[in-house]
Amino acid sequence: MTNNQEKKHHKIAIIGSGPAGLTAALYNARANLNPVIFEGMQPGGQLTITTEVENYPGFEEGIQGPVLMDIIRKQAHRFGAESIYKEIIEVDFSKRPFTLKTYDDVHTAEAVIISTGASARLLGLESEKFYMGYGVSACATCDGFFFKGLTVMVIGGGDTAMEEANYLTRFAKEVIIVHRREEFRASKIMYDRAKKNPKITFLKNKIVNKVVGIEENGRKSMTGVILQDTKDKSLTEYKVDGLFLGIGHKPNTEIFKDILDMDETGYLKVKPGTTFTNIEGVFAAGDVTDKTYRQAITAAGSGCMAAIDAERWLEAQEH
Ligand code: NDP
Repeated sequence: MTNNQEKKHHKIAIIGSGPAGLTAALYNARANLNPVIFEGMQPGGQLTITTEVENYPGFEEGIQGPVLMDIIRKQAHRFGAESIYKEIIEVDFSKRPFTLKTYDDVHTAEAVIISTGASARLLGLESEKFYMGYGVSACATCDGFFFKGLTVMVIGGGDTAMEEANYLTRFAKEVIIVHRREEFRASKIMYDRAKKNPKITFLKNKIVNKVVGIEENGRKSMTGVILQDTKDKSLTEYKVDGLFLGIGHKPNTEIFKDILDMDETGYLKVKPGTTFTNIEGVFAAGDVTDKTYRQAITAAGSGCMAAIDAERWLEAQEH
């Protein structure tokens, strides 16, 4: 350890600050365990890139994603949880206490809750970033409702894209699935369901070149998408009100590779019905373990489970 590295010991360290991590912190803080939350690269997690959240129970009129996360964080802090605005870049779970490294210091913890979440895969375009939350979305369940009677595009050729497109037909008048190849990766059943849906049309061999829109009185809103044909390279602008990215999610589990059990797509495995990973004292909650539901409320619920599992496990260690 160099001089500028400080070492700190914690009873419970929580890695990740989405609804799972912050809820775990709230519960552990109320149990007097003084948890620390390593907030990571995106404090508040995926909800901070959505706008209105209307399906989180308790907010009759809906609430802005970043505001909701701020409330849960303050609620946890009120009982003694501490946020450390750093990213964990390396862990050593081979011996207890566990070691967690940030870019400039080292922490140890008796128990660790992993709630590093998943990230929606994005195209990586500047214009996509610019209109994110203003027409561009990576979550139909979160934002589909805002596209009642409108036309939207869904990018991707896998099951996520088919599922999102089908879901969006509940609101949108027209849904266009845009895929970069001729063949679809989606399972036959999901593809057939989308094909049979009269509101869904397909554009194949096309990639997104640019999201276009307007900015008036400081308010921005997308108005269309320029697609490029992968064969003849021609560019065409399509007038659409929304763009949904259905190109998959990636669990944020890089630093746990070869340390914790994961499925073939990188999601952490937990003992069914619990938040126990394969290493005693290390728990996992939220989207990092869940490729099925991926909702703020399910993440918060499993964060609560992890806090209770960790608390009981620590108590058992003391006896
Ligand atoms: P997949 O990796 O299966 O599909 C991603 C799709 O996005 C592919 O068609 C891919 O194209 C396309 N894509 C990736 N990057 C880009 C890009 N930069 N530009 C344009 N297109 C891009 O991910 P999914 O999330 O769809 O599925 C992940 C797993 O989850 C699968 O096992 C799936 O079966 C499962 N799943 C199951 C569901 C269900 O059963 N209800 C629902 C959702 C997912 P290409 O094909 O050319 O690579």
